[in-house]
Amino acid sequence: MPAKVDMDKIVSLCKRRGLIFPSSEIYGGLASCWDYGPMGVELKRNVKDAWWKTMVHERADVVGLDTSIMMHPEVWAASGHIDSFTDPLVDCKSCHLRWRADAIEGERCPECGGELTEPRMFNLMFKTSMGPVEEEASTVYLRPETAQGIFVNFDNVITTSRKKLPLGIAQIGKSFRNEITPGNFIFRTREFEHMELEYFVKPGTDEKWLDYWVKERFDWYAKLGIRKENLRLRQHGKDELAHYARDCYDIEYLFPMGWSELEGIANRGDFDLIQHAKCSGRELSYYDAEAGEKYVPYVIEPSAGVDRSVLAFLIDAYDEEEVEGEKRAVLHLHRSLAPVKVAVLPLSRNEKLTPLAKEVFKQLCPNFVTGYDDSQSIGRRYRRQDEIGTPFCVTIDFESLEDKQVTIRDRDSLAQIRVPIEELDKILAAKLGGEAFDASTLWATRDK
Ligand code: ATP
Repeated sequence: MPAKVDMDKIVSLCKRRGLIFPSSEIYGGLASCWDYGPMGVELKRNVKDAWWKTMVHERADVVGLDTSIMMHPEVWAASGHIDSFTDPLVDCKSCHLRWRADAIEGERCPECGGELTEPRMFNLMFKTSMGPVEEEASTVYLRPETAQGIFVNFDNVITTSRKKLPLGIAQIGKSFRNEITPGNFIFRTREFEHMELEYFVKPGTDEKWLDYWVKERFDWYAKLGIRKENLRLRQHGKDELAHYARDCYDIEYLFPMGWSELEGIANRGDFDLIQHAKCSGRELSYYDAEAGEKYVPYVIEPSAGVDRSVLAFLIDAYDEEEVEGEKRAVLHLHRSLAPVKVAVLPLSRNEKLTPLAKEVFKQLCPNFVTGYDDSQSIGRRYRRQDEIGTPFCVTIDFESLEDKQVTIRDRDSLAQIRVPIEELDKILAAKLGGEAFDASTLWATRDK
């Protein structure tokens, strides 16, 4: 498989197969905004579900939360975002394009070579006003991270969940950043989704937990099919640490434009709880009843982007292969991420085949996200399913009418097995659960 694929190929596949469309396309699009189509919405949900399952449901030490996007404006003063959530902005005096000073090389405009202004700090938070009368309305911000919703609810969660530390609080939701230079498709956008965990620990154990979460998060991507050689870890230098961070690692992925951040795992220390306690006047600490001591916990934060993860999963899964003299583009997506798990394909749109094919579709629907396609040749329909990464296709042919058996085709090996319709759900569930697809065992092949 190629280590890298052109971003244009991914963008065009996403458009062609209903994964991702430019936002407001009929009006010419809106820069850096994208819409997830019928296939994209399934893929994105699967990424979020996989994260939630690993980070919340499979652990006794993490609970979930869903907080509002707009929060009391003082939250952002306390968190330091009003003062420090800025990027250095420079303008080109000739072509008037704007650049992030720390993201360009040299001292001239990368577009036209023109002279640049002195850098000035630009705050990335979007502002809006709350209330019906504009003059009286108060300024509120669209959150640039979900983390603050967790910190301000720390006390609520601790007192109601009755859990002991270490305790994690997880949240998935939209964030907004008025990025100076968005781009590279869904890699950097102004509206995106975060998957964040704030893991509260006893001070002194924080370094151990940082190492633990760095490893957990790295393994999560690998377990879901990203090749390890395309992932690497990078520790932040002292000069690049965010204002709240004591230490930070980035998990980087080899995107088509080069190694770039996929997820950040930071040790935020007690910065946020201390700040919110100070600014709100409410005590935010933890009483350890067994040890009889009270302390302000430290926080380890694995913070990932849903959209950036979707992009990495797409890029890593993409492949082009030669099959029977024809080129096929295929997404080798992990079974749990594939938008459609199984597609029902009658051999042709024949009036005798259709009722049985519809019956099989109805049988599978409650258990699997199932597709149905009876237009054009079977070969073309296989290609279409390959391009959206459907792990299994079920073909209904004329023999099926007699023997009540159908053929399952495996996306990756292209092997086929013939199975009784009444066993189909059980077999598909096993294969989707990871059982090997082996045409030589279990069921007789077609010609036997
Ligand atoms: P970058 O350095 O790329 O701007 P960051 O270090 O500011 O990212 P964090 O604040 O650590 O990002 O956010 C955690 C994760 O959220 C990132 O690793 C990324 O996956 C995602 N993310 C952040 N900003 C954006 C954005 N503008 N568009 C899409 N995803 C983003």
